Amino acid sequence: MSLNLAAVVTATASPLSARLPWILFAGAVLLIVLGIAAFRYLLAWRESRHASSDSSRSELLRARDERLKLALWASGEQFWDYDLVQRKLHGMRADESAPDAADITVLTRHGEVPTIHEDDLPYVMERLRLHLQGKSSLFMSEHRMDLRGDGHWVWIRARGRVVERDEEGHALRIAGTARDITISRNAEYEHRIASEVMRSMNEAVAVLDWAHHFITINPAFTRITGYSEEEIIGKPVRMLDSDQHDEAFFDRLDQDLRRTGHWSGEIWKLRKDGEEILCHIETNVVPDASGERPLYVQVLTDITEQKRAEQELRYLANYDTLTSLPNRSLLSERLSRAIVRARREHGRVAVLFIDLDRFKDINDSLGHATGDRILRAAAARVQQTVGTEHTVARLSGDEFTVVLEDIASTEEAEAIAQRIIQAFRLPLNFGERLELSVTPSIGISLYPEHAQVPTELLKHADTAMYQAKAMGRHTYQVYAESMDEKNRHRAILASALRRAIDRDELSLVFQPRLSISQQRITGVEALLRWDSKEFGVVSPTQFIPLAEESGMILELGAWALRQACMTLREWHRAGLEDLSVAVNISATQLQRGDLQRVVARTLAETGVPANRLELELTESVIMANPAQNADTLRACRRLGISLAIDDFGTGYSSLAYLKRLPLTTLKIDREFISDLTHDIDDEAITSTIITMGQSLALKVVAEGVETYDQYEFLRNHGCDEVQGHWVSAALEPEQCLRFIRDYYPGSGVRVAS
Ligand code: C2E
Ligand code: CA
Ligand code: CA
Repeated sequence: MSLNLAAVVTATASPLSARLPWILFAGAVLLIVLGIAAFRYLLAWRESRHASSDSSRSELLRARDERLKLALWASGEQFWDYDLVQRKLHGMRADESAPDAADITVLTRHGEVPTIHEDDLPYVMERLRLHLQGKSSLFMSEHRMDLRGDGHWVWIRARGRVVERDEEGHALRIAGTARDITISRNAEYEHRIASEVMRSMNEAVAVLDWAHHFITINPAFTRITGYSEEEIIGKPVRMLDSDQHDEAFFDRLDQDLRRTGHWSGEIWKLRKDGEEILCHIETNVVPDASGERPLYVQVLTDITEQKRAEQELRYLANYDTLTSLPNRSLLSERLSRAIVRARREHGRVAVLFIDLDRFKDINDSLGHATGDRILRAAAARVQQTVGTEHTVARLSGDEFTVVLEDIASTEEAEAIAQRIIQAFRLPLNFGERLELSVTPSIGISLYPEHAQVPTELLKHADTAMYQAKAMGRHTYQVYAESMDEKNRHRAILASALRRAIDRDELSLVFQPRLSISQQRITGVEALLRWDSKEFGVVSPTQFIPLAEESGMILELGAWALRQACMTLREWHRAGLEDLSVAVNISATQLQRGDLQRVVARTLAETGVPANRLELELTESVIMANPAQNADTLRACRRLGISLAIDDFGTGYSSLAYLKRLPLTTLKIDREFISDLTHDIDDEAITSTIITMGQSLALKVVAEGVETYDQYEFLRNHGCDEVQGHWVSAALEPEQCLRFIRDYYPGSGVRVAS
């Protein structure tokens, strides 16, 4: 580096261990001292050149020298003197490592100016120029120098003044002091970085004094807590405490902090606006020199949202969002726990597997939004029925599970299943005018009788549920090992049924209906028969549910309708013109909504007059979706056909609602008929239904009439028609035709089935 400069520093880097404020203070004082000392030294030096022999004078000089040495030693400053003409530097510093004033040695240096960092050089030169030209009273500069010539840069703070000028006022010499400020400069730099980091941090930072009062906060702290610096500095940290934590909590916190110097954890804090926020807090103790008045640095993170999200996730993982019931995973957990407890206490656990009957149809026909509302209402009803002490979970779709703990016997579980079935007799209502009935089928399994582990218990309850469905739905079944076999059988049966139509295995039989007043057969009910090559004769109570489950019922139902009409057409041609046929219609057929079109087409194709066809629908079929079904039924009625409500009395239709449906016929379920003349309740129900039906202008038909006494009862109570083994079992078409033709009024002929 060029030597054509005057800013100069002597000495090598010396470590400064004193702290910055002290340095600044000492520096200021010493600068004054040094200024004087240096000036005097110079004078003395010049005088010494004149080689005075005066001993008192030399004594004086030595004393001055001594003082300068002391000043340099104590201040850590270095003295320099630069000859602008010779371009030579003279430097001087005291060896700071000297233990006391008596041992101070002064190190001097003569020669060229050490290299100034090229980035700092223009700045140094500018400062020097200003001073030499008299534009600044002092030369002052902070810059890097390579004092030892080994590439090790040291920050220097130099101050100086022109001390000698020629007659024209040109500066000849400049002298001053310099100091290695590398350490303090780095510290300051670090401090600046630290405060910038603190300022821009997302986490709130607060520094507390030994008495837990705020000293400093950062902007994030204000953002998170709502308190500005002015509002909080000097205030106690407890100002932000919420009452979520008790005194003991804070005592523990203080103890931990004192013991380990650190505390971290979650604390509820109170924002300025009164809202509680959950904070993760890291507190570190910064001890002071005395060890008595430490500082505390707290870093706070607002984790309220994070916690909420975590909780939501946990909720999502364990609960069904639609019904708010536990889901499968939480169910397994609770069931496992229940089993562990039952094993320990020799208790019993029952699992009820609940499936809503024909829910798929409802969902398809009413839309998923309504389906969802039904599921919610159903969930609430199950929970209400079993009480909060038992777990009700939703597994999927319309499948619910109840875990019953502390069950004394199978009967107790059955009683609860029965209660659930009973509870569903009341229609589910969800706002507006919507009211809807669904029925549950329930399977029951028990620990320890049926299985030892949750998965097995669930599987068995599921199997039992399927059995309940197979039994005609709307009922419960307790698991039995034989059910697994039955289920396998059902699966095989279902696939065989698929081929039944093509293989011509299906047929219709007809059961005559006797008009009491006319004493003749006025109609027949068409009943499906399946004579399977593999399984023999399969009952419709077995294969109709199978067909409904698989959707095959649409094809089967249309086939039966067509077949019934074709047979009737033949019989009309054979002379029984006023004979009617009744055909059973399943829920799926009705809910498809195009029943009227299927019927119209069948009538047109077979040529059967509409008033000779009656459709039989059960209450539960109609009530599953009253509003839409009513529309379909009205459309059918407009075709001119009759509509009968089948198995009446077993469901739960409101009579008021029935009145609004376009029905023509009411068929009393054979459950009531079979006990007539034995059971006064059934007698009362039957006579009421007859009266009620007739008051609604419906034709009342009693089914399952097996005895003359039953017939007598019905006749006495004004029933319109009877059907049952007392008249005749269901017959093959030719046989039935013959039966009708040969029927003699009042003969009471019984045709064996
Ligand atoms: P359902 O409509 O109630 O039919 C009456 C059932 O009672 C018939 O059984 C019939 O044989 C039986 N039955 C008639 N008289 C008596 C009697 O005096 N005593 C007793 N104990 N039973 C009697 P089936 O033929 O086994 O039909 C059972 C059910 O299958 C029917 O009940 C009906 O719900 C359904 N089903 C039959 N055919 C069809 C069909 O073509 N379509 C649809 N969707 N369902 C059908
Ligand atoms: Ca029927
Ligand atoms: Ca019936």
